[in-house]
Amino acid sequence: MPHRTIRTLLAKLAGPALPLRETAAQKLRLALQLIFLALILAIGFEFRNFVSSILEGGALSRRPPGVDGFLPISALMNLRLFAFSGELHRAHPAGLFILLAIIAMSFVIGKSFCGWLCPFGLISELLYKARKLASPSLKPPPAWLDYTLGALKYIILAFFVYIIFFAMDAAAVKAFLDGDYNKISDVKMYYFFARITPLAAFITALLFLLSFFVPYFWCRFLCPYGALLGLVSLASPVKIKRDAGACVSCGLCAAACPQAIAVDKAASVLSDECTACALCLDICPAPGALELRVMGTGLKIKTRLLPFLAAFIFCLITGLAMLSGNWRGEVSDDDYRRLTVDCDTLDHPRW
Ligand code: SF4
Ligand code: SF4
Repeated sequence: MPHRTIRTLLAKLAGPALPLRETAAQKLRLALQLIFLALILAIGFEFRNFVSSILEGGALSRRPPGVDGFLPISALMNLRLFAFSGELHRAHPAGLFILLAIIAMSFVIGKSFCGWLCPFGLISELLYKARKLASPSLKPPPAWLDYTLGALKYIILAFFVYIIFFAMDAAAVKAFLDGDYNKISDVKMYYFFARITPLAAFITALLFLLSFFVPYFWCRFLCPYGALLGLVSLASPVKIKRDAGACVSCGLCAAACPQAIAVDKAASVLSDECTACALCLDICPAPGALELRVMGTGLKIKTRLLPFLAAFIFCLITGLAMLSGNWRGEVSDDDYRRLTVDCDTLDHPRW
């Protein structure tokens, strides 16, 4: 493919045609998404080496604590334990700090984790743009179907919240966190991907396919993390405000919104689906019509500051956990050697 054609294709995939002076935030956003994806791949690679060293029987290689971010149930259990007793469980503590970091990001700048860091968000966005490229007249699902399917992620979130915060008592939560299943849950998660079953592979492929035809299928309808962050984001004091006096009703903001939010009609964007991607803000041609404001103050936030703010909050909370010695898990090498052998037969504890 000629160099020029590749550049044109990449430019189209990078987003709608934005005024040149306004694209800095989107370039930074893409850079941040790619850096985070690279970080996750590096963690996955290092964890693979760790599991290999267990199976080889020699000295264990370094285990990357960031892998705890893939254990959301363990993190929620740890949150429950910490909230009710002040105790931080030491098996996979990094998972709790990663959870707190992305909740804090959502409170400060909406669902910015989904729009600025999450690799599933990035994959969904690329699939969405590829679909728009293939068929520009992409229509979102009808509102009734969107609302019905959108409830699914809240049902999944409610199930976990009910089990962890209401059905289980403190002793059951502690027993789960102390148990062998939790200790080895990182290896079990790794095996889920490394030894993926045909059924799991089929479901994963189906989700990719659905995300191609229905924008952000996983994020909008199934991701319980997204549901939690969407609820937190509603309480955020930072909101996108539209000044009807300055707005020229061009509709570009609504057309650019990947979440199909009617930004051009709203006085203020109050949606649990807004990922703070800033596309609407960047594309708006009318000065002062659409701005990111801190409610109750006169403060405006430039879109190009968003990636720095998102990265700062994430690094601050995870960095504090590292500096205070609360980042690394304390599952012993002997436990990893003992439990990895029986990993496949170790079942989820009942409560
Ligand atoms: S409302 Fe704006 S910031 Fe929110 S998802 Fe839509 S385009 Fe992105
Ligand atoms: S892009 Fe700006 S001017 Fe156009 S409808 Fe949206 S807020 Fe109004």
